[in-house]
Amino acid sequence: MRLLKLFLLLFSLSSCLGGTSGTKKISTGGAGPIAPGTPIRWSNATLAAPLDINTSTDFTNAFVAADLDGNGRHPIDQMSKLWNDAHTGYTFIKVPSDNVANKAYANVSDFKDGEMGVYKSFTWFSNVSSSALAITQFFGFRRNVGTASEYIELNHADIIVNYRDYDFSTDSTSTSDYDLHSVVLHEMGHLLGLSHNWNETSVMGPFLGITQSNRSLYAADVTTINNNYQAGNPITAGGGGGFATFSPVPGEGDAVEGMFELRADGKCHHTVNGVKVLVH
Ligand SMILES: [Zn+2]
Repeated sequence: MRLLKLFLLLFSLSSCLGGTSGTKKISTGGAGPIAPGTPIRWSNATLAAPLDINTSTDFTNAFVAADLDGNGRHPIDQMSKLWNDAHTGYTFIKVPSDNVANKAYANVSDFKDGEMGVYKSFTWFSNVSSSALAITQFFGFRRNVGTASEYIELNHADIIVNYRDYDFSTDSTSTSDYDLHSVVLHEMGHLLGLSHNWNETSVMGPFLGITQSNRSLYAADVTTINNNYQAGNPITAGGGGGFATFSPVPGEGDAVEGMFELRADGKCHHTVNGVKVLVH
């Protein structure tokens, strides 16, 4: 099975309007390209049990009592629970999460191991921009190619936060570092298959300032997550998709791999196989 890379629209911290304007078909494979807006989701079968997304102990060891909610949940679990509570039919992510030692992989692709998690990186990666605050890397398979019910079925994802180049805080009033809760809530949305929401007030919006705090979901986010996961309807409209440039075009059942970057430099960078193809 071919392993092909699908790099999605990057999360810009500044203007990056026209969410799918960068879509470019660079190959004419028989299967046809993955269209912008193609849903990205976990299968119903996978979600029969909540996703086991670990939290690395360099996060949990750094949290203090004031970071915990009334039930002792730390900020990352709090953000997972917001997505869980937003849907009527699924508990997406296991809360509380398990604590694991940081993987500290040198290569971002190595995170596709036997465990999924939220990790800090203090060294970052040669093939990921230093302008990225955090990334959600995902792996999946292309399903129902060429039909109205086409989607990407996820089978692995990790969130990695760039502690080499940026500072993060759990103090929502801080103006000198990025709000960890807000970053995690946004990335957890990507981990569940959501792309950016360009038109509504949303935690999945394309802009987050260093002084901004988005610690709860907006009405648009609740609508989007429910649209992406409609009970009894495994493949739905809504959510997912964005920038879809890839070569060669993956076919039915082919593995795909993608990355959402949460960026700090105010520009959208679109890359294919590590090569920058568009900045706007
Ligand atoms: Zn994003």
